[in-house]
Amino acid sequence: MSTVIPIRQESTSGCQEPQVTHERGQREVFCGLTGIIWLHRKIQDAFFLVVGSRTCAHLIQSAAGVMIFAEPRFGTAIIDERDLAGLADANEELDKIVGELLQRRPDIKLLFLVGSCPSEVIKLDLSRAAYRLNTQFSPQVKVLNYSGSGIETTFTQGEDACLTSMVPALQVNKDTEKKLLVVGTLADVVEDQFRVLFTKMGLGEVEFFPPRRSTQMPSIGPGTKFLLAQPFLADTARTLESLGAQHLPAPFPLGAMGTTQWLAKAAQAFGVSNEKFEDAIEAPQKRAIQAVAKHRNELSGKKIFFFPDSQLEIPLARFLHSELDMHLSEVGTPYLHRKHMQAELQQLPATTRIVEGQDVDQQLDRCRAAAPDLVVCGLGLANPLEAEGFTTKWAIELVFTPIQGYEQAGDLAGLFSRPLIRRLKLVA
Ligand code: SF4
Repeated sequence: MSTVIPIRQESTSGCQEPQVTHERGQREVFCGLTGIIWLHRKIQDAFFLVVGSRTCAHLIQSAAGVMIFAEPRFGTAIIDERDLAGLADANEELDKIVGELLQRRPDIKLLFLVGSCPSEVIKLDLSRAAYRLNTQFSPQVKVLNYSGSGIETTFTQGEDACLTSMVPALQVNKDTEKKLLVVGTLADVVEDQFRVLFTKMGLGEVEFFPPRRSTQMPSIGPGTKFLLAQPFLADTARTLESLGAQHLPAPFPLGAMGTTQWLAKAAQAFGVSNEKFEDAIEAPQKRAIQAVAKHRNELSGKKIFFFPDSQLEIPLARFLHSELDMHLSEVGTPYLHRKHMQAELQQLPATTRIVEGQDVDQQLDRCRAAAPDLVVCGLGLANPLEAEGFTTKWAIELVFTPIQGYEQAGDLAGLFSRPLIRRLKLVA
């Protein structure tokens, strides 16, 4: 049972921005361990060792699917009854497991010890364990730790915690020469496309964080300016800022407009001329606008309702409203970082209902009353809502799929139009 705190209204700074309401109650989200699925694909020499229960192991296995051909780069050190009862020395057991793992897998160069609810319950100090193991295995293997625990978090916070743990491993320099750092996990194909665009714009050195290999960590210094590629990296951004890097606030690169605005922020910060910028983006922007337009028939005028889940909700709502004329019934988000979200909020209609946090029963009532054409929600809510006749989209799919940038804008629109087309076919 959870405490229910009634909704309170809070005025945002500008009278043109939507108001944000807050609610707390029963929540329906995955935990931060889920982030391992896309993080282990990105950092190709990293291993994620969850220190958790069989439940944690099942979550990861089912979210990742079965891997037959490759040795997985994640696993679970199971905390069993003996550990929970304090009959075994959990640190000793962990050291043994890590030793065996690293001996068997010399390809691992970065090992994350990932905390979970059970490791927090038995107060296993994974930062001390990481320190201890580092002294044993460094420099061949770097050992870091972060928590993916599900208590009061949502699943994308796993990436934020992981990247925050990596920041101390970045090289800090005194270099004042301007350099762009793109922060947030992007599919390699998306990263390559952005790299081409930045090169065409004439930007010098551009680095991406997290890197594809732990041996290619970017360096940062007072000249580093960073763009967030994902909207759920509050702690990572704060840690980078504490080391002197400067955040470039921008909308997120979703859709043709979002991508242009995101790139424009970098162009502006690095003194790229309008002509050069337009020249670099003209062709891909045109392709993106055309690809998005193909989905307008299905989506224009349709009502969409977002349950809070991935923290991508506000940028997605902006894309669907501004580029596809969708009507926003409600935009729920687990957490709202006002500074990072400012450029997005400014582009939403002032009447948009934005709800931070969740009280799932109340939200379900509002959803039923709004009768949206499409509901974006977590897996746990999707099936019951489908059974009630709603058309749903799994929020987690939007994190697993490459959706950023011009070349993916049409695919992003397709993720929303496809469920509506499928529903039409089913009722036809
Ligand atoms: S919510 Fe806690 S116990 Fe459940 S899978 Fe996540 S970390 Fe493990």
